[in-house]
Amino acid sequence: MKYLFRHWAVISNRLKNSPFVLLGLDFDGTLTPIVKHPARAKLDPGVRALIKKVNLLERIQVAILSGRALKDLQRKVGLKNIAYSGNHGYEIQLPAQKARLLSTPAALRSIRRFHRRSQKAFSSIPGVFLEPKGATFTIHYRNVSARRVRQVKNIARELHGDFKNSLRLRFGKKAIGLRPAWPRTDKGRALKAILKKTGGRKILPVYIGDDATDEDVFRVIRWSGITIFVGQPEKKSRAEFYLKSPAEVARFIKRLMRLF
Ligand SMILES: [Mg+2]
Repeated sequence: MKYLFRHWAVISNRLKNSPFVLLGLDFDGTLTPIVKHPARAKLDPGVRALIKKVNLLERIQVAILSGRALKDLQRKVGLKNIAYSGNHGYEIQLPAQKARLLSTPAALRSIRRFHRRSQKAFSSIPGVFLEPKGATFTIHYRNVSARRVRQVKNIARELHGDFKNSLRLRFGKKAIGLRPAWPRTDKGRALKAILKKTGGRKILPVYIGDDATDEDVFRVIRWSGITIFVGQPEKKSRAEFYLKSPAEVARFIKRLMRLF
């Protein structure tokens, strides 16, 4: 993995020579530092202003893709005319269009049932935070003591045993995600859909993310776009470049803006 600012000459050339750029951004851990409780995450007003400004440029469209529910994400970001995807791709809303939910009544029911079962199963473990989000469901364990983390994972796997046909289990940063087995989507597919709706092949996709679910996007645009991981460089990641922190992501966006 290459440190982005060390390769700025090559990257800036690619950006400058592109007729249009889709700037895809994850939210938690990418635009905002990770916090103890997801409800407390707050977008810095300076970063919000920056995103608004870059999105106003004629040759750039911003898209924010998150595991959060769409409404929650939009409230946190607080900007119009941006493409949004919530629930790991299960919800998409393009500028000036209606929100679309990719799910079925049966899938929504399975998520609700899993949530109810989890409430009971995790009630004895302090620090677990359960987040039902409609299309998907998350078990957060950032505040669980280290010696009980394994137990949390085991309970999740055990509960999932009864939902093998209807739900998929995904492990992320201090969180376990449950999503429908069908319909199937992820952030990578969501970005592809947004690309298509934004105008097709001449667009250069840029994507920045910090977590396991962002790898789905890196995989999709690895060869066609610019992929940027946030954090200490990880061998497992499919991203080509890395930035060290959300502060560096903001710095990158500022630099990008000066090119257009
Ligand atoms: Mg993230």
